[in-house]
Amino acid sequence: MPDDVPAAGEKKHAFATRMSHAARPPIRALGFVNPPVHRGSTVTSPSCEVRRENGKRRFERVMTYGTQGGPTHWQLEDVVAEIEGGTHCTITGTGLSAVTVPLMAWLKAGDRCLMPDSVYGPARNLAENVLPGWGIETQFYDPCIDAEGLEKLWTPNTRVLYLESPGSHTFEVQDVPALNAVAKRHGAISMIDNTWGIHSFQPFAHGCDVSIQALTKYVGGHSDILLGSVTVATQEHHHLVRGMASALGHYASPDDCWLALRGVRTMPVRLKHQTESSLQVAAWLAKRPEVLEVRHPALPGAPGHDLWKRDFDGGCSLFGIVFQPRYTEAEVFRFVDGLKLFGIGASWGGYECLALPTNGMLVRKVTPELPGQAVRLHIGLEEVADIIADLEQGLALLPQ
Ligand SMILES: *Cc1c(COP(=O)(O)O)cnc(C)c1O
Repeated sequence: MPDDVPAAGEKKHAFATRMSHAARPPIRALGFVNPPVHRGSTVTSPSCEVRRENGKRRFERVMTYGTQGGPTHWQLEDVVAEIEGGTHCTITGTGLSAVTVPLMAWLKAGDRCLMPDSVYGPARNLAENVLPGWGIETQFYDPCIDAEGLEKLWTPNTRVLYLESPGSHTFEVQDVPALNAVAKRHGAISMIDNTWGIHSFQPFAHGCDVSIQALTKYVGGHSDILLGSVTVATQEHHHLVRGMASALGHYASPDDCWLALRGVRTMPVRLKHQTESSLQVAAWLAKRPEVLEVRHPALPGAPGHDLWKRDFDGGCSLFGIVFQPRYTEAEVFRFVDGLKLFGIGASWGGYECLALPTNGMLVRKVTPELPGQAVRLHIGLEEVADIIADLEQGLALLPQ
């Protein structure tokens, strides 16, 4: 390689620049811009001795079998580690498996986990319906709890502090550094589901040990893949995560990794544009008489905005609205059904608008019920004036 080859993705560069170059070969080294897809189960070795030695180096990307992942996975791992500021990343088949793998890696029979009441639903399901059978207890806590409150919930067997900020559907922003300080004091591990904060929240700089991503969302960016990632900041943590993912047989399709690599190159511009559109839509909705509150942490005046401003450097286009208490579920369904540009569906982070009534999906144990019917909105790349016009005709279907 010539000496004057520009380095790929230097730290001093801005996010968009780094995403164009991260984990790529030096730009003057090879002809093709994008990598091939490496598919495979069998990996052959030049000799029995080499194969045996390679088997001992499974954490070093020295392969003996396809389940260890390959070059397509590794390139994506390096990009995600770069985005989140970690040292090692493990790609898993779904965002949900990126939640379950680290929980299983750190929790043993007799341990206890603290989870926010606003946690992603399937994570709650694992904690409530699977972990107890293995002797692991979960205590749910108010996501807006302060350090003192968290301290009161602590017990000697509390091993994991789980965070998700903002929370699923209700969008509470957590005081992550303060809560992590409590976990540190007790020698516990802190894990965060950082899917909403994909580029705007730096988990390791805020004291987290493990960061979970549903790459399905903005990294994929086109609603056509499922992938997750677990990123850590030490080799010891990496071996725990990789070891557990491997023990459980987790694997991700290299084709999906390739699509995620393709998606991530345009993610900065999509995120920026969609976030800006979502803030315009959110500000417009906040002024509507049908709407009681808008839960978009990046919107001035919204719940959690001060913490968001302190800890985040940007946002995304997923937020919630709560209707005035006078509206029934049937009326809010009429509004959502009447939207012409919004698909009705789960997941988010794609290029298109989505709307989802959320009251029926919410399980909350220690936080108050929502004061009205709620809808989660995901704003896509459509022109913002068209989105607002669509919402306006939808709201006109409600009794005034
Ligand atoms: C979607 C999502 C997940 C799970 O991702 P999948 O790829 O759909 O399994 C986990 N956490 C959060 C916050 C999510 O929104």
